[in-house]
Amino acid sequence: MSGTARPNDQIPRRNAQRFVCPHCNTLAKQDWFPLFYIPEANAKHQELNTHAGQAGVSRCHYCTKMAMWLGIQMVFPQGSTAPLPVADMPEDVKALYMEARNVFDLSARGAGGLLRLAFTKLFPHLGVNKDDPNRAIAELVKVGLAPDIQQQALDLMRVLSNQTVHEGFVSEGDQPATVLFLFWLLNYIVEQMISKRKQIQTAYASLPQDKREAIAKRDAVK
Ligand SMILES: [Zn+2]
Repeated sequence: MSGTARPNDQIPRRNAQRFVCPHCNTLAKQDWFPLFYIPEANAKHQELNTHAGQAGVSRCHYCTKMAMWLGIQMVFPQGSTAPLPVADMPEDVKALYMEARNVFDLSARGAGGLLRLAFTKLFPHLGVNKDDPNRAIAELVKVGLAPDIQQQALDLMRVLSNQTVHEGFVSEGDQPATVLFLFWLLNYIVEQMISKRKQIQTAYASLPQDKREAIAKRDAVK
């Protein structure tokens, strides 16, 4: 489930010309600088890795922050097994998502709690100002903004993110898998309810003016 909706050229890779920066989450050009060479690391990984033993630094053109690499592994900033956020995730939601991602490998429950909070921050971006997710979802459904599959995704997110933080609902062993699913689910919701809408709106705005006027005229007739 990790890396959903992220084309291969966006994933950070050793010596890639561009990738999605782990600091600013922007698809940006990268400068590369060799650092030093560790012979033992080369001996250990030789068959697997043409860059084995070579430490290097990549620097993001967008935010100018650096990532450190040993062989083909990014070793700084701290990696996470949780997926990166999708591009259209709003900033305040993304800040909590990234925090959840950073703690996920240490505490799935902690990550679950942060994702629950990230989820509640999403509603104003969907046009609903309610603090309680249950009410917010009901409102979205009422105004026709969350048809079936989207409503199910929202309710799954609401119920499961609650359960991961409360004792006894999700067993200790199942927690990482459940929280990993929540990362995927939040990305899915942002894609469906923000990215796809944005794409359609942009395409619609590029229709010739007379076509858009004809549509407006058609819809004005009751
Ligand atoms: Zn950056």
